[in-house]
Amino acid sequence: MAQVVLRNLRKNFGDTEVLKGINATIADGEFLVVVGPSGCGKSTVLRLVAGLERITEGEVHIGDKLVNRLEPKDRDVAMVFQNYALYPHMSVYKNIAYGLKVRGIAKREISQRVDQAASLLGLSPFLGRKPNQLSGGQRQRVAMGRAIVRKPRVFLFDEPLSNLDAKLRTQMRVNLKRLHQNLKTTSIYVTHDQVEAMTLADRILLIKDGQVEQLGTPEEIYKNPATVFAARFMGSPA
Ligand code: ADP
Ligand code: MG
Repeated sequence: MAQVVLRNLRKNFGDTEVLKGINATIADGEFLVVVGPSGCGKSTVLRLVAGLERITEGEVHIGDKLVNRLEPKDRDVAMVFQNYALYPHMSVYKNIAYGLKVRGIAKREISQRVDQAASLLGLSPFLGRKPNQLSGGQRQRVAMGRAIVRKPRVFLFDEPLSNLDAKLRTQMRVNLKRLHQNLKTTSIYVTHDQVEAMTLADRILLIKDGQVEQLGTPEEIYKNPATVFAARFMGSPA
């Protein structure tokens, strides 16, 4: 069970208040998409959940645990970035397996998990290839494979598709949707792409200037935007 609770989450960088008290409860198994203009604090929210930045004030709970003081490695989350780096000299198999190997997981278990992830991501035929023998979309799927094999309680995605061309993005959206239906891992997914948000989200968290502008299902926000800003952002009819 891994619901994620953000309670009055605040983050300052120097004198700048970047997050001004974010409240949200992400249900176990929910796919939450975080949207908002560039610089509004989306990545910062993810980094606070992952433990990559110190929380200024407020709380992050994962499952029934307050994780504010836990190291990233003890939070049982996996993050997928836009600029993922694969090891160029390693095969797809080894790239996916790497994080398990360093955690001392047995070879047979690793092989089972990699095969399962590869099959979910449509990468089974490519396990022997090197990254430079893959397309951009395939490489991004390898990056996701690395996160999946760890079987984290929470996935954090920071604009993972924004470097792909439009056609691949559409294809990856379908992949991601299917993946979530299979794994049902609680996910927080940042994007600035409204279509991506509408298709992937159970609920959307719209942030403006470090504050929650609206939190609701795609339909709720689209049909009943709380503010003019929300309406504009979601492209709701006037
Ligand atoms: P988003 O992901 O929504 O584009 P970010 O969360 O990356 O926004 O950043 C929010 C604000 O915080 C921006 O104004 C950014 O410049 C600032 N910021 C982010 N990280 C740092 C940092 N390490 N030091 C100083 N300011 C930062
Ligand atoms: Mg960002």
